[in-house]
Amino acid sequence: MRSHQLSPGRTFLLGLETGSDLYLLLSRFVEEQQIEAATISFLGAVRRASLRYYDQTAKEYRDFVIDRHLEVLSGTGNVSSKDGRPFVHVHAAFGDADGRAWGGHINEGTEVFALEVTVVELIGEVPMRLPDEDTGLQVWGGGG
Ligand code: ZN
Repeated sequence: MRSHQLSPGRTFLLGLETGSDLYLLLSRFVEEQQIEAATISFLGAVRRASLRYYDQTAKEYRDFVIDRHLEVLSGTGNVSSKDGRPFVHVHAAFGDADGRAWGGHINEGTEVFALEVTVVELIGEVPMRLPDEDTGLQVWGGGG
């Protein structure tokens, strides 16, 4: 286990416009605000979800799109450092008109209908994403 100690900084409540791209908008926002670490949560609705699943055996990503109107049941994420830049990592569970759930890692291409986002900046030992042999992913390694 790797532990990084941080404290809350600024808190932002964001209302995202219809038609905007959830992932691109969050990435741009943290860059503009010079946020190095944060927790993110959101709820609302999207017109389509562009998602990613990580195959743990093949150690590769599988991208897919749920091209329908969806409620965001729960959206959660964080910001940490990857290759020296702030990196937004977001997952969400979605519900369709029949109450079925879909979900995954949020890619570019997730189109907002209406979303309410809370971003809590964290200040302190910013986790850095480093290559990890066991998972094939870039996971939280060094601090500071
Ligand atoms: Zn992910």
